[in-house]
Amino acid sequence: MVHWLKWMPLWCCHDSIGKAVGKSADTPESVASGEPTRIDDKTKIIDTGGTTAISFVTLSINQKVQEKLSRLGICNERDLVLHLPIRYEDETHLFPINHAPQGRTVQVEGVIVHNEVMLKPRRQLVCKITDDSGTLCMRFLNFYGSQIKTYAVGKRVRLLGEIRHGFFGAEMIHPKCRIVQKGEPLAVAMTPVYSITAGLPQKILSKLIQQVLNGPLNASLLAETLPDKIVRKYQLPGFEQSICILHHPPPDTPVDLLELRTHSAWQRIKIDELLAQQLSMRMHYRERRSRKAPNLPQKQTLCQTFQAQLAFSLTAAQRRVVAEISRDLASPHPMQRLLQGDVGSGKTIVAAMAALQAIDNGYQVAIMAPTEILAEQHFQKLSTWFEPLGIPVVWLSGGQRKKAKQMVLATIESGEAMLAVGTHALFQEQVSFYQLGLTIVDEQHRFGVHQRLALRTKGAQSQPDSMPHQLMMSATPIPRTLSMSYFADLDVSIIDEFPPGRSPVVTKLVADSRRNEVVARIQQACHQGKQVYWVCPLIEESETLQLQTAMETHENLSRIFPDLKIGLVHGRLPAQEKTDMMLRFKQAEIQLLVATTVIEVGVDVPNASLMVIENAERMGLSQLHQLRGRVGRGADASVCILMYQQPLSEIARKRLKIIFENNDGFEIARQDLHLRGPGEFLGARQSGIPMLRFADLEKDGALLTTAQSVADEMLNDYPQWAQRHVQRWLDDKMEYLRV
Ligand code: ADP
Ligand code: MG
Repeated sequence: MVHWLKWMPLWCCHDSIGKAVGKSADTPESVASGEPTRIDDKTKIIDTGGTTAISFVTLSINQKVQEKLSRLGICNERDLVLHLPIRYEDETHLFPINHAPQGRTVQVEGVIVHNEVMLKPRRQLVCKITDDSGTLCMRFLNFYGSQIKTYAVGKRVRLLGEIRHGFFGAEMIHPKCRIVQKGEPLAVAMTPVYSITAGLPQKILSKLIQQVLNGPLNASLLAETLPDKIVRKYQLPGFEQSICILHHPPPDTPVDLLELRTHSAWQRIKIDELLAQQLSMRMHYRERRSRKAPNLPQKQTLCQTFQAQLAFSLTAAQRRVVAEISRDLASPHPMQRLLQGDVGSGKTIVAAMAALQAIDNGYQVAIMAPTEILAEQHFQKLSTWFEPLGIPVVWLSGGQRKKAKQMVLATIESGEAMLAVGTHALFQEQVSFYQLGLTIVDEQHRFGVHQRLALRTKGAQSQPDSMPHQLMMSATPIPRTLSMSYFADLDVSIIDEFPPGRSPVVTKLVADSRRNEVVARIQQACHQGKQVYWVCPLIEESETLQLQTAMETHENLSRIFPDLKIGLVHGRLPAQEKTDMMLRFKQAEIQLLVATTVIEVGVDVPNASLMVIENAERMGLSQLHQLRGRVGRGADASVCILMYQQPLSEIARKRLKIIFENNDGFEIARQDLHLRGPGEFLGARQSGIPMLRFADLEKDGALLTTAQSVADEMLNDYPQWAQRHVQRWLDDKMEYLRV
């Protein structure tokens, strides 16, 4: 099995691969297979600098195998080249049985001296193997009848596995085992191990990869995409060299560096990947930036009147981000800015200032929020702020009555309504703006590419060659490396300061068994005139069950506290009732609000200073942080009680510890990234941007910085090289560039 590891000659290819895989394919699928298609179109050339290859052009691979490959994300020759090993096996050395190191995979060779199927303690095939130094037991708990014969006494075998000392003395359980002749040569290179899928064995995948590396396309597939000057400046190994080392490491390559992925060959691949992401996102950015947008300079009039009537003054951080946004709006190109700020840092007022600048210039503004509760709350707040200034604010939601909606739509179309606040309803077809200058998207991660695109095109309706400015807001702080990579297509403003007079929320962890104490605490708080949230458990499997739990909790608490005014709010409540309930809570008519996680985003009731979260162990970190951010908004010292049910899973324990120990959203986010990876932060964004396969943002922060500088240099000085590089890495993933 070691021989084919060398560069495979072309003879061992087409048919044998199709057959070999077909044989080991899962039977039901093979039976159901349609006619195997062969790709004969050899005239199509993969060219990293041009054509997009969406299928194999030099390998003829039957359809069954193609399907299996596509499960691994492999659709063409280039994908095979970039299907890099997940680890390596070292078959280049033989260890004497008695002197083989422990605790790692080793290769030994010996002759079988005994072969037996044992029935106790369970059925297993046990073979004894000896070499000059000692004896080893090889055990198979699952085996085919044929193996008993294959591993007959007298046969010479090579075993790859870990030696342990067990019941039978030194032993290897389920080693990789093959029959060899005496003196058979050892592998000259480390054996790569690839991620595979059912019915597609290592051997076949390896062969395919070797074929491509030796095939007619190798010159273009392995061509350098970085200009010489950059390769030298950053002292990078060549692309071809790196790919070859990774698929076929020379004998002296340090395995640990390969496995830890810190070897320079890995570094090069990771930089290339990060660079492709940077390039594509920056190209995307530049492309949008080159379009036209209404020029909305600061006029002072409305903004000044507004600030003068505010009960508080802006924090330094708020002033800084307001200035950044203001500069963007005054430019004739579309702003694409992400405003980040922890829960409660005061993003709404910043959005309001941005809106005023657009309105001051006679342009309309749309503010979109992901939930009715949040949109409604923005509407309330902005109406009270804007109406005294004579600015008409309208509200648009899915649940609105037809007639009311029609009226609102008319005012948006005529340009009478200067600010429209709403949910997804804002970008539906019937909505057409008179002159949209700015769109603001709150909690941007909840919205997908398509929704943002739809809102963006709204602006183009009235002025076809111009786009509105866009401000996105996020209350989930995004760790720096994440923001540098996955958000590289946006400008970022950060509010890193809280309004004065806040005292941090004190978090308490309480086992569910101490529920009575929690209940007593609530009563006490309510009697002191405080307001309390009771957040019911998240039941992911069933919304109905979640609703039921919330209703039961409401009933129980109402029974325990007959003298308190207790409200209930959940996702199924009609929009109007939801709004009324929130308003009554805000006006302190209700003391205790039982809620599902619908209150998670944005809800702002400063007088509420105690929150109980049931089954906190089921919630994610950012959700807990968001929920907790609903208290601690007023002058009162606030408390958040996290109730949990035992036993706690390992991950739940970690999460609770993090949320208990930290109040800083950025730190929580950083640890969350460590626990769960980037997917959770990206939300709907995930479907629109190039994801990373090889680079690890936590470990490869330094490479990211390099990739960033290389990207700038290439875009400025080597735009064609940049194009080629992106093509290699992302040719089929450039869809999002349209947004
Ligand atoms: P978030 O960033 O979570 O959206 P909000 O915009 O809802 O935060 O603001 C939280 C609370 O802080 C609101 O009640 C808001 O009126 C208040 N606030 C915002 N900025 C200031 C400030 N500079 N000084 C005092 N209070 C402020
Ligand atoms: Mg908010």
